[in-house]
Amino acid sequence: MSTVFEHGLTLFQAFPGLASKLAHLPLAELPTPVQALPALGEHLGHRNLYLKRDDLSGKPYGGNKVRKLEWLLAEAQAREARAVMTFGTAGSNHCLATTLYARGIGLESISILSPQTNAWSVGRNLKMGFHAGAELHHYDSEPVAERGAGWQTAKRLIRDEPPPHVIRRGGSSALGTVGFVNAGLELAAQVAAGELPVPDLLYVALGTMGTASGLAIGLAAAGLPTKVVAVRVVHPKYANEEDFRTLFDRTAAMLHRLDQSFPRLRADDACYSIRHEQYGEKYARYTEAGMQAVALMQSHEQIALEGTYTGKALAALIADARKGALRGKTVLFWNTYNSRPFPEQAMNIDYLHMPLSLHRYFEEPFQPLDPHARA
Ligand SMILES: *Cc1c(COP(=O)(O)O)cnc(C)c1O
Repeated sequence: MSTVFEHGLTLFQAFPGLASKLAHLPLAELPTPVQALPALGEHLGHRNLYLKRDDLSGKPYGGNKVRKLEWLLAEAQAREARAVMTFGTAGSNHCLATTLYARGIGLESISILSPQTNAWSVGRNLKMGFHAGAELHHYDSEPVAERGAGWQTAKRLIRDEPPPHVIRRGGSSALGTVGFVNAGLELAAQVAAGELPVPDLLYVALGTMGTASGLAIGLAAAGLPTKVVAVRVVHPKYANEEDFRTLFDRTAAMLHRLDQSFPRLRADDACYSIRHEQYGEKYARYTEAGMQAVALMQSHEQIALEGTYTGKALAALIADARKGALRGKTVLFWNTYNSRPFPEQAMNIDYLHMPLSLHRYFEEPFQPLDPHARA
């Protein structure tokens, strides 16, 4: 079922019993590098600052989603699905990553999209997904929460024969979250190899929560005392304490059930905190602090972040550093944003060939804090 030992997936090395229980597709390039951030650290007056380069997690598209898709697409393949269907906002990195990796293994990809505040990166992701052959549906209501037109379309498409394999918003089912349990174990292995000291704090953006909850499980399973600081960037109905604990408990229980040597972990015993103060007005609406964080990372370390997730997460770290709350601590920032370039061919697509409901993202102005916005 899997060829893991060939590329040494940390989860299967630590818990070999899982290898025969969980189908896995080696889509990512792991482990992702860890590097020090000396210039940003010096600017903040903080010496022990590190970066986890999940922006390089895969080709053609990096970022955090490929770690989840290794498990989610393996399941789709095991069920002999012809297509996958998933959900997100118009500029969703998750929908794009799903399309690129699904197409890569010969599956069709359907994205049910809902509106988001306009930004340059929205059109860029839409073009890339369209170029890769995604079937894009965009409606003015939230597909799942409001059971509007997107929901109706999903219900209709699921009656196809064979039905598309449904992947949750953000890929944050218990199975998708396993990708970040592996990531937590991978980080522990890098600590053991001397690539960085044990982090006291790990800052990461909190969206559909698979990333942060999986990391908290993986770090706890490895016995690391690192605290996951999860910076909420979505509406609290999607990211909150109760649902975080449910996802944590469900994922850990599944792994324990599949391999008894995986520790019985509960969210009660985990080391994490959810931070709310960087959210701003709404999801994907940039904030001053978030965009200042993006600019600082760019000017000091030449690493590109963005305003929806990583900028807000780094803003929390910067605010804590300026308050003196990080003094003497080893701090790791987890970069969840893709840095692989998009092919020019995809960027040269004429948006008029795309579904009419998407044209607005190419015709309406970008939000004022977008560096691509015209004054
Ligand atoms: C999806 C995403 C996140 C959030 O990850 P979740 O697992 O949904 O919490 C963070 N950063 C980027 C760039 C993303 O695309």
